Amino acid sequence: MSDSRIRNIVIVGGGTAGWMAAAAFAKVLGADYAIRLVESEQIGTVGVGEATVPHLKLFNNLLGIDEIEFVRRVQGTFKLGIQFNDWGQPGDSYIHGFGELGRMLGLLPFHQYWIRAAQLGLAADLGEYSLNTLAAPRGKFMASASDVPASSPLANIAYAYHFDSGLYAKLLREYAEARGVRRTEGRIAQVRQRAGDGFVQAVVLESGEAIEGELFIDCSGFRGLLIEQTLHAGYDDWTHWLPCDRALAVACEKVGPPTSYTRSTARAAGWQWRIPLQHRTGNGHVYSSAHLSDDEAAATLLAHLDGKALGEPRPLRFTTGLRRKTWDRNVVALGLASGFMEPLESTSIYLIQSGISRLLNLFPRQGFSPVLIERYNAQTRFECERIRDFLILHYHATQRRDTPFWNQCRTMDIPASLKDNIALFRDSGRFFREGEEMFAQVSWVQVMIGQGIVPTGYHPLVDQLPPKELEAFMQHVQRVIADCVEAMPAHEAFIARCCQAAPAGAPMAA
Ligand SMILES: Cc1cc2nc3c(=O)[nH]c(=O)nc-3n(C[C@H](O)[C@H](O)[C@H](O)COP(=O)(O)OP(=O)(O)OC[C@H]3O[C@@H](n4cnc5c(N)ncnc54)[C@H](O)[C@@H]3O)c2cc1C
Repeated sequence: MSDSRIRNIVIVGGGTAGWMAAAAFAKVLGADYAIRLVESEQIGTVGVGEATVPHLKLFNNLLGIDEIEFVRRVQGTFKLGIQFNDWGQPGDSYIHGFGELGRMLGLLPFHQYWIRAAQLGLAADLGEYSLNTLAAPRGKFMASASDVPASSPLANIAYAYHFDSGLYAKLLREYAEARGVRRTEGRIAQVRQRAGDGFVQAVVLESGEAIEGELFIDCSGFRGLLIEQTLHAGYDDWTHWLPCDRALAVACEKVGPPTSYTRSTARAAGWQWRIPLQHRTGNGHVYSSAHLSDDEAAATLLAHLDGKALGEPRPLRFTTGLRRKTWDRNVVALGLASGFMEPLESTSIYLIQSGISRLLNLFPRQGFSPVLIERYNAQTRFECERIRDFLILHYHATQRRDTPFWNQCRTMDIPASLKDNIALFRDSGRFFREGEEMFAQVSWVQVMIGQGIVPTGYHPLVDQLPPKELEAFMQHVQRVIADCVEAMPAHEAFIARCCQAAPAGAPMAA
């Protein structure tokens, strides 16, 4: 009987997705598997992707990458959340902060008490009750403290990173190669398939070398060399809900201390990001080509930089959506090859991480069981659809009437799943995180309220707290958060003390 165990894994592509997969497989699967990665410097990588979500810390922990060394190597800064300007209407601003919101009381999440207190005129802005939201615009940051009581907000600070994704891929490449991953430089010219079932057998380079494997990971970027161009998995286009289809990216000189948050400012037909790194600031304008010309988009981007542009804006085109199957036969697509959603909530690198861990959980012992494949695809779809809904929320829940783009977003039909969540929240502030969906209740609550969806009702148990006690509770939480933020160091000082990157050209620590 032939042994159909997977022994050879071929990763196509050496962008963030390819090297994250290579590093994780090398660490987790170990020496029983031969892992090869093929990439083409001539084709290059997308090279944007500078803001993350807190989950990346877990990925680096899994690999055993030291956080301080990581931040130094990638010119990293810390991210407490995202500031959304002009989204609800011009002049509005709110922060989607990571981590806790206020303090739970009994069964109920904090925002239930906040709704009632706000109705009685006893509540401050929701952001006053979030450590991250209060600390970010004040330029503060610290990692969780170990010398405070476990109940202190300082004991458990949720944060992510801003980084240079090219440097991260380089770090992961060193990591993976040191653990036996074999990298091959070259352009794949042909994909060889098995007769009958179409399983991929080998990728053939322009040099003529054929690289064979049992499992192929397609990290070839938007083109989807294996998953789409070879297996024709199909693509669900979500542009009718998320109409932005282009971006221009440009770095500018750093002016002033790096902020501990990403900034997202709504524009006439999209939005602009600002991501501070240690050595420069990343900027980009995501927009809808049906509503704005490329020249207008570039002019808007360049008119809103903090410092001098470091080059010409780089154009990127995309179609928001998801492959119908992200695992088809013996090919699993990760990163841009699997689908794309704009970087509004910095979810792409997270989705790579999540795809890797899902694949490792469902890794076949022998052959390719359809049951494993179906479960993988169902979980991926669920996760992506929930993120899609969360992104649509930002566009749809707006009062903006100033441009055709915003009028379209405000009045468009939205997925039934999102409609239900908005209706439930508007009714009584309830939200339920389903299954393994990425964004937790606190994220949805901050964005819904930040975008102007204010619940009319609240949970009946809130009424058990008399108004005087409710007021005292709100004031206490607000004071504790304010005191904690006061005690936090400046973000820039924290970086200087703990994880300053080496100046360009200096040798890196091993
Ligand atoms: C405008 C924009 C902003 C973004 N911002 C963020 C963000 O802030 N946060 C975030 O998490 N994500 C962000 N992303 C997403 C992020 O950039 C990607 O998820 C990430 O870079 C992964 O890309 P990738 O590795 O899938 O593809 P790529 O970087 O495109 O890499 C593809 C690889 O495949 C190789 N390849 C392709 N064809 C061949 C061939 N024929 N032969 C050999 N090799 C081949 C290429 O050489 C390359 O190595 C953003 C994306 C865009 C478009």
